Amino acid sequence: MTHLTSSAAQTFKSLIRLLTPYQRPIALPALNTAVLWRTTLTGAMALTAAACGEVQPETDAGADNAPSQEASEVNVYSGRHYESDITLFNTFTEKTGIKVNVIEAGGDALIERVVREGDASPADLFITADAGILWRAEQREIFRSNNNEALKARVPAQFRHPEGKWYGLSKRARIIIYNKEMGLPEGFRNYDDLANSDNVETICVRSSSNIYNQSLLASIIAHEGEAVAEAWARGVVANFARKPQGNDTSQIEAVAARLCRIGIVNSYYVARFVGSDDADKAAIGDKLGVLFPNQEGRGTHINISGAGILTHAPNAANAERLLEFLLRDESQEAFAIGNNEYPVVASVAPSGPVAALGAFRADDLPVATLGANQHSAVQIFDRVGWP
Ligand code: FE
Repeated sequence: MTHLTSSAAQTFKSLIRLLTPYQRPIALPALNTAVLWRTTLTGAMALTAAACGEVQPETDAGADNAPSQEASEVNVYSGRHYESDITLFNTFTEKTGIKVNVIEAGGDALIERVVREGDASPADLFITADAGILWRAEQREIFRSNNNEALKARVPAQFRHPEGKWYGLSKRARIIIYNKEMGLPEGFRNYDDLANSDNVETICVRSSSNIYNQSLLASIIAHEGEAVAEAWARGVVANFARKPQGNDTSQIEAVAARLCRIGIVNSYYVARFVGSDDADKAAIGDKLGVLFPNQEGRGTHINISGAGILTHAPNAANAERLLEFLLRDESQEAFAIGNNEYPVVASVAPSGPVAALGAFRADDLPVATLGANQHSAVQIFDRVGWP
């Protein structure tokens, strides 16, 4: 981690204000209170690391983060890319007067950026999908603990960090889809059935470099141990209908096109097709059957989108207010539905297409434990030849 002296930090901040040609401030149509700084980090990380100059707080609160010194703004680094999130941030600004500045990029790229910026980082809140990414962020020590009782009361313990380093904001399930015309193989109910030797050349799934698969395997390690998890992964590889490729959407399209009978995907991808206004996409959704695995056992694997306040946050109190706001009932519904996810607050019911997929029994494994098995999961994927 980079630690700059105070004067070096000022020089750094002066420098980075000059280096912003690739950032495009976009005035939002509904309100101009929030500004979205869309950045492209891939291939330009050395430069984009400096690009945060445009979202510098007006005051330099320094390391003490005293609320009285905070600018009336909060700087969000987000791995989520939904207009509905921006609409929520605008509502927050309207209610509080606190401006929300957003930089969007991939979760891992944003972690690297925060680490490189060190104590000169303007970032207050990091939002990302998947507890596995939150774990990676935690390992880089970019979060501070926040044990606000209001936050803890809203987010079930299963979906937040035990020391308050991050909080879940929405949930997703990793489910099994199948081509309705082809049907599921007889008796197929659980993740284990994906590894059954009766099901050769049936499965489409994305690469093991993807965090969703790493977290799923991490959950199997947590429940059944490494040996069983490895045997499972080996069995799934033996049943591939094609070499892993594309994202979860690709698996859906392949299942609909009968390239494979079965797919492993996150729930929101399915909801996007099933609930689509686009006739072609809805037709693909019509071809899909949905199985929530392990309903008679531990339940279906659950993951989250979540957020944590950063160690060097200049506007930590504002970030805490934004977190509280995102966990209110009204925000929860909007935040979840923006990506067809399930609200994390238990009293808020799922809505939209994802609700139409039906109620199901969810695995109660604390998502904070997934990271602990991530390294083992990656090693297993390598050993069994899951590309
Ligand atoms: Fe996704």
